[in-house]
Amino acid sequence: MTGLPGGPGPAAVRGLTGGCVVDVVVVGGGIEGAATAWALTRRGVRDVLVLERDTVGSGGTGKSSGVVRCHYGVPSLAAMAWQSLRLFEQAEEVWGQDVGFRQSGYLVGVGPENVRALEANVAAQRALGIDTRLVDHDTAAEMWPAAELKDFAGFAYEARGGHGDAYRTCHALARAAKRAGARIRQHARVVSLLTSGDRVTGVRLADGSAVAAATVVVAAGPWSGGLVAPVGVDLPVRAMREPVLLVAPGAPLAESPVLSDLVNLQYVRTEGPNLLVGNSDLAAPDWADPDRYANLATPAETERAALRFAARFPGLPDAAFATSYAGCYDATPDFNPVIGPAGPEGLFVAAGFSGHGFKIAPAVGTLVADLLCEGASSHPDIRGTDFRLERFAEGRPLASRHPYVGAGEMR
Ligand SMILES: Cc1cc2nc3c(=O)[nH]c(=O)nc-3n(C[C@H](O)[C@H](O)[C@H](O)COP(=O)(O)OP(=O)(O)OC[C@H]3O[C@@H](n4cnc5c(N)ncnc54)[C@H](O)[C@@H]3O)c2cc1C
Repeated sequence: MTGLPGGPGPAAVRGLTGGCVVDVVVVGGGIEGAATAWALTRRGVRDVLVLERDTVGSGGTGKSSGVVRCHYGVPSLAAMAWQSLRLFEQAEEVWGQDVGFRQSGYLVGVGPENVRALEANVAAQRALGIDTRLVDHDTAAEMWPAAELKDFAGFAYEARGGHGDAYRTCHALARAAKRAGARIRQHARVVSLLTSGDRVTGVRLADGSAVAAATVVVAAGPWSGGLVAPVGVDLPVRAMREPVLLVAPGAPLAESPVLSDLVNLQYVRTEGPNLLVGNSDLAAPDWADPDRYANLATPAETERAALRFAARFPGLPDAAFATSYAGCYDATPDFNPVIGPAGPEGLFVAAGFSGHGFKIAPAVGTLVADLLCEGASSHPDIRGTDFRLERFAEGRPLASRHPYVGAGEMR
């Protein structure tokens, strides 16, 4: 087995001594678990086993709206989104298949109170090399002729943004990992982490069998907290239900850029002939049980979404609600993920993606592999320490450098 050119071989995985064969168990076959397996195999760590209690992509990944943008006020996240976007652009080459990435562009609009933050964010993103720019009302109106844009005071546009298919991308990552030697077991529920002294030694499955591993990565979305709690890790990840609506526009629509409406707190993108409409108002979370939640928008949620949509799109008078579904974000207190070691030696967490983990997933896998193999990020603009679990106990949440009033989360 060899590592990446110039990279370490598997014996360099931290916590292992004597060059013994590495065995990494990844708990969870969502996009972060699949990306982790892919990135580890890329580094030459091939003895990777992904354990998925249901089927690959069946969790939050399968519900993702798939928006791809680099518009983050946390530089590490912006850099992770940028790194991932460039992989989505080369999906066939990198993962051997089309992953459904549609480069429709990404437009974000803000009200007057957020113009300075918008400008500062765009400047910081450009400094990272991200292809983004401020655009005026006329340009935005050309992109979304059916929209009323007067209450926006500024826009930023990413021509290389758009939307992807998280489920398909997850499967592509899993297949690429498998081709490189990783194993993926579906219908394999982990019931507990095994430890000896102060280190993790593997996992136990629901069928009573055990898998021994020197390194265990928990990437189980909203279920992660329950898995690590018995080994003394307080992981503040809660399931937060979010409805998504599909709207028949009532008139043929050309594919437009994804619109992040930070005035009416919604996002809108084309989905075939329809529009997919999501909520960006996270002020009153609907905490849920990720195994039992209402999978349709409630009448109140539908009405609220309809009012916001109608206010933004007076040019679509015949638009009609088509259907809805809901998914769960795995939300942390600062709406940013935990990526790093936790609790017993050998235990690692990649969870809490808080509703924005699709667009950064390939970079997440790469960061996990970096941290496991090198103990540090290999990317100069991605600080591995930003995502430490300890930040919550220390009262130092990870926050945007230029937050948006009324829409601070996820950005
Ligand atoms: C409605 C919605 C819209 C979204 N829109 C966007 C968007 O536009 N852009 C974006 O970037 N992100 C978006 N996201 C977020 C993104 O989809 C998630 O952050 C990402 O998919 C999370 O992946 P994950 O692998 O961490 O979790 P999951 O996909 O939930 O995967 C975790 C897996 O772990 C498995 N598991 C759980 N417990 C166990 C166990 N004990 N043993 C074995 N396996 C277990 C589960 O079955 C599951 O498959 C959205 C999410 C939702 C819900």
